[in-house]
Amino acid sequence: MLSQRLKKLHPYVPGEQPDDREYIKLNANENAYPPHKSVTEAVCQSASMHSERLALYPDPDANMLRKSIADFLNSTGGVLERAEINPDGECSPAPQDKIPFTVTPQMIFCGNGSDEVLSFLFYTFFDSDRPLIMPEHTYSFYPVYCGFYDIPLKKIPLKKDWSLDMDAMCAAAAENKSAVIFANPNAPTGMALTREQVREALKSFPQDRAFVVDEAYCDFGGESCIPLLKEFKNLVIVRTFSKSLSFAGMRLGYVVAAPELIDAMLTVKNSFNHFPVDFITQRAGIASCGAAGYYARTARLIAQERESFSGFLKERGWLVLDSRTNFVFAKKNGVEGKYIYESAKREGILIRHFDTPGIEDFVRITIGTPEQMLLLRSALENI
Ligand SMILES: *Cc1c(COP(=O)(O)O)cnc(C)c1O
Repeated sequence: MLSQRLKKLHPYVPGEQPDDREYIKLNANENAYPPHKSVTEAVCQSASMHSERLALYPDPDANMLRKSIADFLNSTGGVLERAEINPDGECSPAPQDKIPFTVTPQMIFCGNGSDEVLSFLFYTFFDSDRPLIMPEHTYSFYPVYCGFYDIPLKKIPLKKDWSLDMDAMCAAAAENKSAVIFANPNAPTGMALTREQVREALKSFPQDRAFVVDEAYCDFGGESCIPLLKEFKNLVIVRTFSKSLSFAGMRLGYVVAAPELIDAMLTVKNSFNHFPVDFITQRAGIASCGAAGYYARTARLIAQERESFSGFLKERGWLVLDSRTNFVFAKKNGVEGKYIYESAKREGILIRHFDTPGIEDFVRITIGTPEQMLLLRSALENI
């Protein structure tokens, strides 16, 4: 009765989501801070003042939201942590992040979380006749979609310092005429390539194959590749509201790419689900984009806490990879990652441990509020 296809599925396992609120959750890279009050207001008002709209289908292509996202990117440069906050609460990009052209709504594709956006993207750009290139350790949903769409994959080991081996990835892509996907900053390492490093890679990359960069964490201090879109028509950038915009419970992700590529993605979306972004989420997303100043402040708070917590671990002999995200990836010599995870859990704090060979000694810790991190510090003090 069950399909042959089903056998190829190996579902992604997210960080634990306990029903009770007993645990401090530092295991799924959710934002430690709540959404801006204009976002909660947008949710409430959409349901009360515009309740008649709930009976109608939403705008299938989320055009007002796409306009807001384009404005948000133009005013932050795609890195909230460094964005300048003007006296009126609006943002302007830090000089190094300024995008040398205007991002337009036609360059944006929205979906129900970037996981769904990635699904449409895999269908749009990757074929079954050649391997998709990706780093050995990266977002573990990518191999899941390879199984889903029957796309072979080739994993390229990280360098000794845990950074991405772009030379090896480009060589493998050239050899197989393949597309590539990776996260920058990468997960679960947290380490980032500079825009210049990505530009170098793009130069030696097949022009007719998609080069996909997942910028889920870029807002916390990476360098966005959006400025490279003018130069490279095969560049596809994936971003999400889940992390830096405190929106994981509402589901909103997007792609930034050349309009022709966005049109191709719309074709895929309209062959699967016309309305992936509901009316309330569109309204809440627009409100989030309007509160960039608030999210720039929370991104700064998280980055500061990340640096201070990394220092705390290093002083105690941990290896802490250089993170540009809202989490740290760290290990302590002679202590199993699983033991660290269990010790924190006993103290009521959930962090993430992966059984994956090569990284099983590490734990991935989401940066919480200073209060939460203080509790974690005392839980880890004795390890
Ligand atoms: C969290 C995450 C996503 C998924 O984000 P959603 O928008 O919540 O689906 C995508 N890519 C990476 C690298 C992530 O860490």
